[in-house]
Amino acid sequence: MLSAIARDADWLRTSLAETSAADAFTGRLLKLLPATPTGPELFVTRTDYFVHDASPPALRMVEMNTIAASFAVLGSKVAKLHRVLAARGASARAGGLPAGRLPDNGAPEGIARALGAAHDAFAARHAGALAGRQTVILFVVQPGERNAFDQDALRHALWAGVGVPVRRVTLAGLASMGRVGDGGLLLVWGAGGGEEVASVVYMRAGYAPADYAGEREWDARKMIEESCAAKCPSVGMQLAGSKKVQQMLDAAGGVERFVEDAGEAKAIRRTFARQWSMSAREGGEAAARMAVERPGEFVLKPQREGGGNNLYAGEMKKAIEGMSAEERSAYVLMERIRPVVTKNVIVRGGEAAEGEIVSEFGVFGGFVRDGDDVLLNEAGGTLLRSKLASQDDGGVAAGVAVLDSPCLVD
Ligand code: ADP
Ligand code: MG
Repeated sequence: MLSAIARDADWLRTSLAETSAADAFTGRLLKLLPATPTGPELFVTRTDYFVHDASPPALRMVEMNTIAASFAVLGSKVAKLHRVLAARGASARAGGLPAGRLPDNGAPEGIARALGAAHDAFAARHAGALAGRQTVILFVVQPGERNAFDQDALRHALWAGVGVPVRRVTLAGLASMGRVGDGGLLLVWGAGGGEEVASVVYMRAGYAPADYAGEREWDARKMIEESCAAKCPSVGMQLAGSKKVQQMLDAAGGVERFVEDAGEAKAIRRTFARQWSMSAREGGEAAARMAVERPGEFVLKPQREGGGNNLYAGEMKKAIEGMSAEERSAYVLMERIRPVVTKNVIVRGGEAAEGEIVSEFGVFGGFVRDGDDVLLNEAGGTLLRSKLASQDDGGVAAGVAVLDSPCLVD
């Protein structure tokens, strides 16, 4: 579904026109969207869910991430840690937890497989041009990257599994070290002084306005987009995961436009929480009234990633009342999911706190497509993040949630 959306540049342009006018960041990305994408397509996604507290409890999707879906490595380490603790009886308080109930998490291997498959597809396409040249996978990271250890194990897995070295670079660094050469190859100056060819660009940055401090960063993004490297993600793939697109998928005919199989479309829809456009042309006035009258039942989402950006309850009400109709169209409104609450212990910064917590469950996906050939399409590993039930928004990076691991029960 996400691949079909990313390829539909006309639909993305029309659908995001009004949002782009109200949100400069989305507008800037949309400007980079090419009519026809180049290079193999590589998605590393993470789709996040809550278990909605209804009878019976049901999975409700929070969002789909198509850029910089993180914590595959650290999440899998937490699963290992919990297994060790369970084996040592540290969870005796919880009635003793057999380690077999704590499943292994293959997320890092899954992501490495997807990156490797995209690299192979690129190498097969450009075999002639690559003869005698060093090929590398680029990890585009934030300056002063805080999440380096979540990325580094992927680097090792790629070296061990595919035999391709990884170069880490910031967008600003790429702007000065890189260029698009003959045939659209993305060339970067390597450590040895020669130019290397980037087969895959894996973006762990570029999702937030702050990642583009100036024109150099935008130049680098343009360079990536115009090159024939496999991009994870391309601009189209990034926009396919935008909050506005997710709202449009929930609207009548949204999912069905991109998923032909009626049964599959229905299964996807079953996980949706309701969403509404905030655009005056799409019933946004009524949505705004509904949110202001019952603020506890909704979440207001801007076109942002990374946690800590949504508005809730009284703050949301105040914000909506203070916005012009045009400003509102930068947002979407979403039904507030009420996750199942459990009693548990959260350890942050070495301090344990016991309380009521809610957990968000993410499923990683890897997808590689070259032209019309889907070379890889698999769910690979999971992520569980838990936070105190009293916290509205915010992930691990935003300083609110902690990495967790699931326990299987009958
Ligand atoms: P981001 O791209 O910033 O991660 P999300 O849509 O994942 O945006 O929202 C951030 C956090 O806000 C989620 O991790 C979740 O805790 C909370 N949240 C988002 N949508 C909802 C919702 N519909 N109901 C309840 N909580 C939500
Ligand atoms: Mg999120």
